[in-house]
Amino acid sequence: MRSNSISEIANALRKGDDFLLTTHVHPDGDGIGAETALALGLKQLKKTVMVVNSDPIPSNYCFLPLEGLFRDRVPKHAYFSCAVALECSEPERLGKLQETFRGIETIINIDHHPGNTWFGDYNYVRTEACAVGEQVYDILKTMKVRIDPGMAACIYTSILTDTGSFSYSNTTWRTHEIVEDLIKLGANPTDIYQAVYESNSPGKIQLLGEILSTLSFSPDKRVAWVTMTRKAFKDTHTSYEDAEGMINYARSIKTVDIAISFTELNSGKVKVSFRSKTHEQDVNKLAALFNGGGHTRASGCVIDDTLENTKKQVLERVLLFMKKSVK
Ligand code: AMP
Ligand code: MN
Repeated sequence: MRSNSISEIANALRKGDDFLLTTHVHPDGDGIGAETALALGLKQLKKTVMVVNSDPIPSNYCFLPLEGLFRDRVPKHAYFSCAVALECSEPERLGKLQETFRGIETIINIDHHPGNTWFGDYNYVRTEACAVGEQVYDILKTMKVRIDPGMAACIYTSILTDTGSFSYSNTTWRTHEIVEDLIKLGANPTDIYQAVYESNSPGKIQLLGEILSTLSFSPDKRVAWVTMTRKAFKDTHTSYEDAEGMINYARSIKTVDIAISFTELNSGKVKVSFRSKTHEQDVNKLAALFNGGGHTRASGCVIDDTLENTKKQVLERVLLFMKKSVK
């Protein structure tokens, strides 16, 4: 399969009138920034646009110019000629929106995951993009949309969060070139950083304490994992969204090549996140063993089993995986 060219995507967007935009379940900074920037861009082109996600927006992203764009759910008799999925590698990632997407004539799939299944009528998949926000930036430029300060803040947020504040290996000269433009267009790095990373509730920091107390290691200390139980969320009055980024504490340890987090979801299933520090440890392959996916250095899956069983089976596979990768 070939990715559509950026001008083919721009033409498809120009052709559409009534748009539905969404990102993946449990939306993150990249997905929210990308969908909001694109929605504002389409509005500028006088299109009718609605954004609906499967799960709520975490409070640290509510500073973005979301007003008037988002709905909690798709209204019953709403009509859309075109639906755009942002940062969804496969239809399952659409969550509750999957059903609605089935009935829409034109689907545009904009993503940067290597495992994307090309489920759109138009597919714009660029694994070299550091964030889907970067792809939206390129699309808006191609469509000659004026990027206002609010849109610049959205795209900046996408890139900031998906590059780990410009530290991950997906950070390139192009990332910085785009960010230079975004700052010139009105994105404020200090305000955005504070809104995203320094607006924590006291409970979130208490949750961090609980989570860090579960930190465990493989005998050689190359694998580290943390466990987030439903009880920990309950005791600290926090929710799943508050756990974002906590896995990075495990990855930050010098000896660690692979970090894992096990999170008990309200559904009873367990969300497993993987992070790798080296290119040799492709955690996308690890997640794929459990029907998940992601990138070489960040991936995830959901396992329908108890926390205890999930940890046992995942850790067994990870240790085998590590052994194989030692030459
Ligand atoms: P997370 O651990 O949720 O922060 O996700 C890390 C990366 O893995 C992201 O790029 C996600 O898009 C991807 N990912 C997470 N969970 C899944 C899943 N269940 N299926 C496919 N990809 C996933
Ligand atoms: Mn992303």
